[in-house]
Amino acid sequence: PTKIGVLTSGGDSPGMNAAIRAVVRTGLHYGLEVFGIHRGYAGMVEDDIEPMNSRSVANIIQRGGTILKTARCKEFMTPEGRKIAYDNLRKHGIDGLVIIGGDGSFRGAQIFSNEYDIPCIGIPGTIDKDMAGTDFTIGFDTAVNTAVRAIDKIRDTADAHDRLFIVEVMGRDAGYIALHSGIATGAEHILIPETKTNVEEIIAGLTEKEKRRKLVNLIVVAEGDDTGGGDEVGKMVKERLPNADVRVCILGHIQRGGSPTCLDRLIASRMGYHAVECLMEGKHNVMVGIVNNRMHYLPLDNAVKAKERFNKEWLRIVKILAS
Ligand code: ATP
Repeated sequence: PTKIGVLTSGGDSPGMNAAIRAVVRTGLHYGLEVFGIHRGYAGMVEDDIEPMNSRSVANIIQRGGTILKTARCKEFMTPEGRKIAYDNLRKHGIDGLVIIGGDGSFRGAQIFSNEYDIPCIGIPGTIDKDMAGTDFTIGFDTAVNTAVRAIDKIRDTADAHDRLFIVEVMGRDAGYIALHSGIATGAEHILIPETKTNVEEIIAGLTEKEKRRKLVNLIVVAEGDDTGGGDEVGKMVKERLPNADVRVCILGHIQRGGSPTCLDRLIASRMGYHAVECLMEGKHNVMVGIVNNRMHYLPLDNAVKAKERFNKEWLRIVKILAS
């Protein structure tokens, strides 16, 4: 390629800026012209496309969000919309794309690339971590550390009042944020979408702990758990244990924001660099992942949400360490 475009699409995640910076500067290093496409595929359809230079990405490596902004774009789901997008890319002479986003964005890229023979390279950016073909996704480490810091604060007040706190963290389909932050904050129970939640077991556990006057009781729930999330768990526990002082806290969008951690900046920089390398080598339609600390290239077709990749033993660790 001689001219490449970079975009962020789907849900935003901290570290996307570091990836944009890496793509732009690596592209320039190889003498490519690099264009920033604003608001995901919407910018392609609406021709919201601008040339970028080294200065365009100065002072952004530490910033959350995405300077290119992100969006969901219905038009791109239709062949007519993708035709308009293609015509706009042609107008600028763009002949290669780097897409930073989730599995939905990669599906769109795959379809687009099959229709118009533009090589597309995906970089996994999602706080949920649930992507096949990579150990890390950009934003997970920051999100989980934000959750840990928040839960630590909640633990202080839970301790001061002998309260039972139920904390809901993000994760509609995946329990990684809940599992990692729950273990790291010493939660008694961690409720995740990948496993069936046994309410009776939780009630029995809480009753037993009540008897031996355990100081702090903390339950971490992923928003997509089969119980229905934090509020539902709160209701159930209050019904069954009317004497317990139960509070529910939903962490929400703070988990998506903030300055990316060192790890997220590092993987974003590596993935951004390698995405451009892929284009230079003539690779078509792969997602750049990291497996066992090595770069791993997965066909975009296979870059889907991965479920139940987590280690079941972790749930055993939760039980033993909270007893
Ligand atoms: P996240 O799951 O982290 O929010 P995502 O990339 O999975 O990220 P989606 O909303 O699923 O987010 O997809 C982002 C955009 O990708 C969509 O708004 C649409 O423009 C495009 N897209 C998704 N699926 C398709 C598809 N099957 N065909 C064409 N375009 C698609």
